Amino acid sequence: MPDKDMKLISASGIHKSFGGVEVLHGVDLSLAPGEVLALLGENGAGKSTLVKIIAGDYIPEQGRITCSGVEYSSLDPIKAREAGIRMIFQELSDAPTLTVAENISMGLWGATRGIVSWKKINERAEKALSMLGVDIDINKKVGKLRIGERQIVEIARALSDNARVLILDEPTAALSSAESERLFSVIESLRSQKVGMIYITHRLDEVARIADRVNVLRDGSVALLADAKKATRGELVSAMIGRDASDVSHPTDRPKPGGKILSAHNIELDRAFSGIDFDVHEGEVVALYGKVGSGTAEVAETIFGLHPEHRGEIKLNGKIFSPKDPNTAIDNSIGFLPADRQRLGAFMIRPVAENLGVPSWPRYSNHGLITVAPEEKAYINWTDRLKIRSRKDPKQKIATLSGGNQQKVLLARWFEGSSKLLVLIEPTRGVDVGARRDIYETLRRSAKEQNIGILITTSDHEEVIQVADRAVVMSKGHKVAEFKGSTITTESLITTAS
Ligand code: ADP
Ligand code: MG
Repeated sequence: MPDKDMKLISASGIHKSFGGVEVLHGVDLSLAPGEVLALLGENGAGKSTLVKIIAGDYIPEQGRITCSGVEYSSLDPIKAREAGIRMIFQELSDAPTLTVAENISMGLWGATRGIVSWKKINERAEKALSMLGVDIDINKKVGKLRIGERQIVEIARALSDNARVLILDEPTAALSSAESERLFSVIESLRSQKVGMIYITHRLDEVARIADRVNVLRDGSVALLADAKKATRGELVSAMIGRDASDVSHPTDRPKPGGKILSAHNIELDRAFSGIDFDVHEGEVVALYGKVGSGTAEVAETIFGLHPEHRGEIKLNGKIFSPKDPNTAIDNSIGFLPADRQRLGAFMIRPVAENLGVPSWPRYSNHGLITVAPEEKAYINWTDRLKIRSRKDPKQKIATLSGGNQQKVLLARWFEGSSKLLVLIEPTRGVDVGARRDIYETLRRSAKEQNIGILITTSDHEEVIQVADRAVVMSKGHKVAEFKGSTITTESLITTAS
């Protein structure tokens, strides 16, 4: 019988290689019931690989994993599921056209002899959501919910499926501050139900807030294991970056910025941001850096016409510009990539080529008729330049591409649309390391070669260092610092943002 001190998970000496290169060098991790373990580390440190081993997706070459007293040399997805381990993916894996209740019961349909029990499905959903202390309409289609609510529905589904260990990979990356707060209270409910949680995050402020212990990985080894309430920010940062922070390097192609494309002066939006000033020049990548809820996304959305009620002065190519809706922005050659790209950005079930062509339809249309051939040509043109890994078949559905490749298609469609200014919210959220590099390269090259200005918002300091010529740091709706070129460093960004 499991005793009350028994760990839910105890992994020790985990080694894992890919293609002969070892990426985890003997890692230990343990988790107790009702405990929140924050897993920190720079990109590529091995966090996802480690949690995938725990979820049974990868088999380690060496090491032992004990789940509630049962020892395994490795798990597989079935064993992990039996042990109550569930992963909430960064890329939502729900079914947007089904209701909340249906999603929560997905995979556990209470069907007997082919009859689905709607009563049971509704009861299960009500129960799971009330255990989490949230109020979400169970009859709503999941596709109509905000991203934070969809995440909670996925957590509710895991809970109904007897989750005892929940793995959350950067759950707040795309959430507003209100949504993050709600997730934190969901985490507290889960804690009181004795669910153990492994919480991957880049946000140091979340560590003390929600975690009990913190495990920092660096280059595939545990660099620090500490009490989350006692570890200081400085200790966490130095454990994360070690002495080799120089691995994250600045781009070497610093352009001479051209004329001003965009300038924002003292712009303000109620309850989101105020007193924000910045410029974007031709050929330049500017990052608005700040934590979730710092207002960076709202500034970007304002430029794209999503917050017509903003105040202050915006100039586009030297002329006063009032972005009152997205069409005005598009008419002024502004391209946009939203945070919640599955809902807003990609028409997921449309073929890749058609997705790519969307903002260019006015150019392609011939007396009001949309011709398909130019879209396909555009696709062939961009698929190589952006290293989009797909079947090179313009009829392929975008939903079948990986997150990184979907993102490239969505970017390409604005390049194809000959935008002058691109506004991108968290452009590499949920994108793997390799595709991230391709995206950074593409952004820098397009800025230079097509002489466009690029404004991104990000909460990833490494991203700022690798892609930006200039960084505007925001905190709690205010601009707190601005850095240029080599003065953009991990330390300068993290210290000013907090
Ligand atoms: P993190 O989640 O901390 O950013 P990852 O676990 O994704 O780190 O990656 C750790 C290292 O393993 C990186 O160098 C990454 O390139 C490599 N890696 C991860 N998954 C694979 C894979 N499927 N094939 C080859 N290399 C991989
Ligand atoms: Mg990862």
